[in-house]
Amino acid sequence: MYVPMGAMLNRANDHGYAILAVNALSIETMMSIISAAEQVRSPIIIDLYQEHLRGHVDFRYLIPAAIQLAHESFVPVAVNLDHGKDPDYVRRAIHGGFLSVMMDASESPYEQNLATVRDLVQFAKPYGASVEAELGGMGAVAGGQFTDDSMFTDPDQAEAFVTTTGVDALAISYGSSHGTFPDGYVPEFRFDVLEAVKRKARIPLVLHGGSGSGEENLRTSVKLGINKINMGADFMRANVLSLQHSLVAAPDIEYMDLLHGTLAAGTDLVLRYLSLTGSEGEANRG
Ligand SMILES: [Zn+2]
Repeated sequence: MYVPMGAMLNRANDHGYAILAVNALSIETMMSIISAAEQVRSPIIIDLYQEHLRGHVDFRYLIPAAIQLAHESFVPVAVNLDHGKDPDYVRRAIHGGFLSVMMDASESPYEQNLATVRDLVQFAKPYGASVEAELGGMGAVAGGQFTDDSMFTDPDQAEAFVTTTGVDALAISYGSSHGTFPDGYVPEFRFDVLEAVKRKARIPLVLHGGSGSGEENLRTSVKLGINKINMGADFMRANVLSLQHSLVAAPDIEYMDLLHGTLAAGTDLVLRYLSLTGSEGEANRG
């Protein structure tokens, strides 16, 4: 079933689990993600990244496919615009059928971030679309190292931001960063920051950069108030490895078989992450 992300995340917030949001850029990737969610009866979010949509397949073609796949699934499926950085693009996306968007103005100064998100929330209302924003310096982390305390989300600022903008979900910065780390490297999370932000903001909180976070960090994050985990890099990697293995094993492989092989690889990877979210079985409970 196709559902708006806002209600899905509110339920996760009420019951203390997280929804996995996975970056997809093709019909095959969307199919493999939904298939994993169905196997363990988890609600799921298809995250369509603005840069993928601009650089690969436009959302005008992917949105109808995503909505059709969602309608035909027996688990709740939301479709979200990931890291919408250009407000005009985000407005077009809402007008074009997205029921959930991320308006990421986190690289702007605080006041500008706040004004951009507040305006976007007002724009989204008549469409019934939910809005995720980001507060903190996660995007500015160099080499996976937090070098400055100001990179972490400030709990008081988060409370004011949520109240003033009316945003539905907030991505925060307490130790994760985008992409992957060298093998074996696990980033240090400031769980005190997460707890303080949750106490003040109370709305669904989002962790970006799930791929490089480490399993224990993710489990603890869910316990302390994260309700959406974004994951992209590991999923893309699983698809690339599947293509590599297939081509090495059979260089003359048919293109359909090559692409089809990625479905199982993608599904397996998503299942690993779903097991960390606490969302398994939740598709049947509300
Ligand atoms: Zn992100």
